[in-house]
Amino acid sequence: MQTPVVEGLFEMSGGDGLPHLLISRCGQCGAVAFPARKRCAACCGTSLVVEEAPGEGTVYSWTVIRELGGHRAEFEPYVVAQVDLSAGLRVQGLVDAAPETVAIGQRVRTGLTAVPNAGMDPGVVTYCFVPAGEGTR
Ligand SMILES: [Zn+2]
Repeated sequence: MQTPVVEGLFEMSGGDGLPHLLISRCGQCGAVAFPARKRCAACCGTSLVVEEAPGEGTVYSWTVIRELGGHRAEFEPYVVAQVDLSAGLRVQGLVDAAPETVAIGQRVRTGLTAVPNAGMDPGVVTYCFVPAGEGTR
């Protein structure tokens, strides 16, 4: 069984087996945010609606993390990217792909990746991005 690392970060309800990021959209100014907020950072409005973001986006920028740390229990270089979603916001996340295959402007979609943290249930997952057209690992 797969358990989201944090409730309210994404939903698996799309019927396509893919995680859909939950974003908030301000009813007063239209600002979108991820993770979803209860108060708008742009206008301080409180009439925000939570919606599922489209699962595809474009790599804006990326880097390779080559140091042990964070949530990774074993060292393995990994890619973190900022991805522009068509919903109008930029989201940061892991890219489940070899560094040499990632490029600015590349189309990606959401996927799931295990959170390999010692002491955490191996079924705990979080969203990531994968090259569009590939299956999740
Ligand atoms: Zn607002």
